[in-house]
Amino acid sequence: MDGSAQRPGRKARGFSLLSGGLDSQLAICVLREAGAEVEALVFATPFFTPDAARRAADALGVPLSVCDFTADIVDIIKHPPHGFGSAMNPCIDCHAAMIRRAGEMMRERGWDFVATGEVLNQRPMSQNRQSLGVVAKSSGLAGRLLRPLCAQLLEPTVPELEGLIDRSKLLALSGRRRDPQFALAERFGVRDFPSPAGGCKLTEKGFGNRLRDLMEHEGLDELRLVKLLAIARRFRLPGGAGVILGRDAAENKALQEAFAPGFVLLEPATMVGPAALVPGAASESDIRAAAGIVAAWSGRMRDGCGDRPPAVRVRTADETREIAFPSRPERGEYLGFQIL
Ligand code: SF4
Repeated sequence: MDGSAQRPGRKARGFSLLSGGLDSQLAICVLREAGAEVEALVFATPFFTPDAARRAADALGVPLSVCDFTADIVDIIKHPPHGFGSAMNPCIDCHAAMIRRAGEMMRERGWDFVATGEVLNQRPMSQNRQSLGVVAKSSGLAGRLLRPLCAQLLEPTVPELEGLIDRSKLLALSGRRRDPQFALAERFGVRDFPSPAGGCKLTEKGFGNRLRDLMEHEGLDELRLVKLLAIARRFRLPGGAGVILGRDAAENKALQEAFAPGFVLLEPATMVGPAALVPGAASESDIRAAAGIVAAWSGRMRDGCGDRPPAVRVRTADETREIAFPSRPERGEYLGFQIL
């Protein structure tokens, strides 16, 4: 069988990785047109939320499985066999690991394929022919890994060869031009999709600075600190302590919830202002600097505290005390320690 005709009877079933971006949505549309039954799968990490995938799955009317990938991506960041992209994004290894997990789920269900929305040569590093081959090989899924948007430029997969998927309905997209995808979006009625680069914090250079700083100081073993990376302002003080400073009520709450033995939590005692977390041992001069940061980023005095000096409450597992300042410190004193 040459894979160009579809065998009547059983339909191929598989997972298609859905980020919520246009290509991943189109992959599902193309697969359905080629005769496959598709369910969507998204991997959630502290660096990538499944919100866009949820919206897309709703719009496409496709069941969605959300799989927690936090421990996997943290392990990969520690030792990425194929290195990082332009920021702290270990895309080749991350992608291969996702496909490997998807492949395990596919086998558990006795299904036929895993699909992605990749387009040959769309991204210079991670979607050239060699990278697609590396991912197929290191995921252990070669032959069952389907890229419906560029399948006609690649070797036929098992479900195509078995006649379960009509190869003639798969596409031959290549390169960075997006016009063909926009035309397909029109045809399939896909209207809601984020920009192609959006979504994963690991591709952002500024976020990479925070991640590198955490790796060098506290390490990545404490997942609650990894999960806090995407929020709040961050500082690294002269004595080596880190400060995570909330920017709004939700972030302050997240920092309060992350407080644990061994950490220091700081909150304004006499002002309205942010919470801050110092995750780990800190010298007294770093704790005073952290308190200064909280005071400097605080606003008005609390009702009934107008005649008191600016003061910050410092909590550890063993004690709660206050550090008071003769006047509110200036933010400029601390801007040099901020990680941007
Ligand atoms: S962009 Fe992020 S989620 Fe996507 S493959 Fe790269 S590291 Fe993984």
